Amino acid sequence: MNGRYTLTIVKPRAVEKGYTAPILNMIHEGGFRISALKMLRFNRDDAERFYEVHRGRPFYEGLIEFMISGPIVVAILEKEHAVEDFRKLIGNTDPALAEEGTIRKLYAESVRSNAVHGSDSDENAAREASFFFSTAERF
Ligand code: ATP
Ligand code: MG
Repeated sequence: MNGRYTLTIVKPRAVEKGYTAPILNMIHEGGFRISALKMLRFNRDDAERFYEVHRGRPFYEGLIEFMISGPIVVAILEKEHAVEDFRKLIGNTDPALAEEGTIRKLYAESVRSNAVHGSDSDENAAREASFFFSTAERF
């Protein structure tokens, strides 16, 4: 299944604004199959572990504060070329630079509050999927 899935997070502000369902609809329309799904709130330790690769970057503390500020919705999305195609669907990290019709263009507020996460490689998709979901939670 490697190479056929990616992990997404609907981030706190987008969940709070009621964008979960519209975003999941865009994911469906984009040809992805949802093979795992849950809503949870990150605790600080888990958020720091999840974003380990960004530790030390100037935006790291703000990113952690933001990601623990409210509930998130996490999903595994299946499709051929899932990582690449999902990053196209979400658009640039900065919504001001995101292409028309992308999830971030439509639903993001700022670079930090950018509505969704998408894995950046097959290797990270595998790591992130098992970070959130046990085998029994993947269908
Ligand atoms: P994601 O990993 O969430 O899909 P991305 O791969 O487009 O986003 P990364 O470089 O991995 O971007 O950064 C991870 C997250 O850190 C971004 O989604 C954003 O929320 C935050 N971030 C990145 N750069 C900045 C910045 N300059 N200022 C504030 N927040 C930032
Ligand atoms: Mg990233």
